[in-house]
Amino acid sequence: MISIIIPCYNEEEMIPLFYNEINKVIKEMKKVKFELIFVNDGSSDNTLELLRKLSKDDKKVRYISFSRNFGKEAGILAGLEASKGDYVATMDVDLQDPPYLLKEMYETIQNEEIDCVATRSVSRKGYSFFRKIFTKMYYKIINKISKTPIVDGARDFRLMTRKMVDAVLKLKEYNRFSKGIFSWVGFDTKWITFENEKRVKGTSKWSFWKLFAYSMESIIGFSTVPLLISSIVGIVFCLVSFIMIIVIIVRTLIYGDPVAGWPSLVCIIFFVSGIQLFCIGVLGQYLSKTYLEVKNRPIYIIKETENDI
Ligand code: UDP
Ligand code: MG
Repeated sequence: MISIIIPCYNEEEMIPLFYNEINKVIKEMKKVKFELIFVNDGSSDNTLELLRKLSKDDKKVRYISFSRNFGKEAGILAGLEASKGDYVATMDVDLQDPPYLLKEMYETIQNEEIDCVATRSVSRKGYSFFRKIFTKMYYKIINKISKTPIVDGARDFRLMTRKMVDAVLKLKEYNRFSKGIFSWVGFDTKWITFENEKRVKGTSKWSFWKLFAYSMESIIGFSTVPLLISSIVGIVFCLVSFIMIIVIIVRTLIYGDPVAGWPSLVCIIFFVSGIQLFCIGVLGQYLSKTYLEVKNRPIYIIKETENDI
């Protein structure tokens, strides 16, 4: 059996279209049993009613509905925990992850004795100019400073064996960054590429700032290099100031003291305190993440599932 996990947030327009498309694939793969687990991530539109109806009419459709919006990562986790299949797939509902690829992915995972088939899109059609530039920069930086490789253009569309899913579920962290977690657990992954497709209906739930915050979170979650950089900057500044002290003492002894340099002093103070605040900020980021982990709150709260109707 294959479990397919589909996080949905205000997707009333997409669900019927997606259901249609995925059913075409399911019909083609006659030998395999399927379960579709839709996760309603606190939608404020008709998503939940649609899911209730679908699961009433179709036994293979299950759903999990959250008490509020917990984010896509929480949705994926809830789906993984609820899944019963021997293989588990995760995909978006907006058809940007083409369902027809599932067949190929399933054949690959069976024939090649691997644990995971993941997808990456090679183009970034439909992304704004700035989003393209920032995405590129982001992947460069994170792969330099993190030991866990994060594949450029990787999508959350993948098919995994039960073994890998169980490994992923062992990572209980609160600040979840799936791309990193899937990479961190290891296992043999084969990447297949496809052309990025535009969202069929509805709008992307990710604003620029949301993405920016998400990228910062992933850096904090998978690298401690920013802390190291802060320390190095501190050491460099100490050295520079030490040299400057010696230079000034020597200069005063030789040339006397012509009281000058007030403006440069102000500039230096501003510069150095800026750096200090920045480094404290970096520290604060790690501390705040630690704080959230220590609180040990649940990552999501379920309000309703298909068993409740
Ligand atoms: N999503 C979710 N919770 C959120 C935001 C998004 O479950 O808070 C789901 C959304 O319904 C979709 C998937 O995550 O199935 C990807 O979202 P979107 O298409 O907006 O992201 P993009 O493709 O622009 O990265
Ligand atoms: Mg999308």
